[in-house]
Amino acid sequence: MSESEKEVYERSQLYRMRHSTSHVMAEAVLEKFPEGKFAIGPAIADGFYYDFDLPRPLTPEDLKEIEQRMRKIIASRQSFERQELSAQEARQLFADQPYKIELIDGLEHGGLDDDGNPTDEPQIISIYKSGKFVDLCRGPHVENTKEINPKALKLMSVAGAYWRGDEKNPMLQRIYGTVFETPEELDQYLWKLEEAKKRDHRRLGKDLDLYSSNDEVGTGLILWHPNGAKIRFLAERYWEDEHIANGYDFVYTPHIGKSSLWETSGHLGFYKENMYSPIEIEGQEYYIKPMNCPFHLHIYKNSLRSYRDLPLRYAEKGTVYRYERSGVLHGLMRVRGFTQDDAHHFCRPDQMPAEIDFVLHFSLNILRAFGFEKIKAYLSTMPEKRVGDPEQWHAAEAALEASLKRANMPYEVDKGGGAFYGPKIDLKVMDALDREWQLSTIQFDFNLPERFDLTYIGEDGQPHRPYMVHRALLGSMERFFGILIEHYGGAFPAWLASTQAVIIPIADRHMDYAHQIAGKLKAAGLRVNVDERAERMNAKIRDAQKQKVPYMLVIGDKEMQEGQVALRKRNGENPGAIPLEDFLSLAKKEIEEKIS
Ligand SMILES: [Zn+2]
Ligand SMILES: [Zn+2]
Repeated sequence: MSESEKEVYERSQLYRMRHSTSHVMAEAVLEKFPEGKFAIGPAIADGFYYDFDLPRPLTPEDLKEIEQRMRKIIASRQSFERQELSAQEARQLFADQPYKIELIDGLEHGGLDDDGNPTDEPQIISIYKSGKFVDLCRGPHVENTKEINPKALKLMSVAGAYWRGDEKNPMLQRIYGTVFETPEELDQYLWKLEEAKKRDHRRLGKDLDLYSSNDEVGTGLILWHPNGAKIRFLAERYWEDEHIANGYDFVYTPHIGKSSLWETSGHLGFYKENMYSPIEIEGQEYYIKPMNCPFHLHIYKNSLRSYRDLPLRYAEKGTVYRYERSGVLHGLMRVRGFTQDDAHHFCRPDQMPAEIDFVLHFSLNILRAFGFEKIKAYLSTMPEKRVGDPEQWHAAEAALEASLKRANMPYEVDKGGGAFYGPKIDLKVMDALDREWQLSTIQFDFNLPERFDLTYIGEDGQPHRPYMVHRALLGSMERFFGILIEHYGGAFPAWLASTQAVIIPIADRHMDYAHQIAGKLKAAGLRVNVDERAERMNAKIRDAQKQKVPYMLVIGDKEMQEGQVALRKRNGENPGAIPLEDFLSLAKKEIEEKIS
């Protein structure tokens, strides 16, 4: 959820409903455990939670019972009534509730508000009563529990949560729940959760034998297996072709660089905690690169540049290494070594609007080719602390914004949210489950050209400073692959599938014909296997489906006699026996159009 979506959500009826339902849940829990202590219970993005200190751990059966109690409370049509109190009155009211007392102290002196967020101003202390239940709360709530749909309500899980997120504090039990306006919306939400589990890239990575990582190699370091590497190769080949066709030059740069390089670039100043310890070579310190930029700047600097040479576009699939705490590593999404599809654009100030237009269009086309149709843009503008003069900033921001408008992109502005060295556009894609992933960044840089003293000779014969733009399109190959796996649920479109067709001979006597067909398809450029195992046809089909192979071609007596293949598609379509040529043109078309 973006900041502005969050604001809209927090003003919505759904938000009030969810927060009110957390009160109803607390009421139900305290009915069941009258000696229980309750802490905080906010609405969150997908529902709500409440933290409790209870005499025993909750079981799934408890959750069911609490849910039943909640439905009864909702049916009793309690109205929510707000009342403001002095701190003293509030302390009396919650005398046997230590967590509430702590919250009241916070409200009185500034500390934590009732959602557990820090604040330094004394707050108005308010309570909400619904039925016999009273909670310390600033609201807002629905008027009456009748606004909560008891059929669209579900308690999801219990998890341990330290009071105020501090591990020195007692561990409380956090019950997560959710509620929607209608049961259909709840079902849709539960379906998405289930589907997200099935699509988890770590699970599919194992099932489809795509990649692994292990402790001996080192956590957060990815091993690409042949199936995954094939998909990466195909994605990169497409990426490369598009870059060549669009005026990029490829460069290759080393994995390490001398400390003086990282001092000039500033990385040792402001990025050091993300870098690994130095390596000593002949008394000099070298660092493993966390970014490719300084090398590209040196390639620019290596020759005298004229205004006629610009724009220059350097692209590299550059593998970088960044320190991440082991606790935050996650499958392919967060790793320690990864390959960025990096590019740096250098241009004259007068070329800048066209260059931004170009890079935005280029990025959108490639994201769409990978199957992401829903794309949102975020524009981050000049922060307080910055380098470069405001005029340059505003010109760059205007170019970014105008470009988004020309491309008809929905976008949000994060005012003051830019990095200190320049404004940027981030592109986020929505996957098949409507989850948002940030992929591309188009980032201005007024800092590095200055630090590396980049120049070009202008028409006036004088040196001028070029503009520089960093661009990562897919982000990193590792994370992008993780997102692709989840977007497609492992069923990659035919153009990316490591195996496009499996040929399934029904009996041994069909084997030769199967291999003949495989030969013809391979000659036509398809990636094909023959399933030679002595398994029954249905088992072979099931396995091919499990491996999510786009096309299955079953071969029996009839197909052999008539030069046909019986086509079954991964999606359940079963066109049956067709001439081999027909299959070939169908497959070629779907591969060409990047569909299926
Ligand atoms: Zn409340
Ligand atoms: Zn860069």
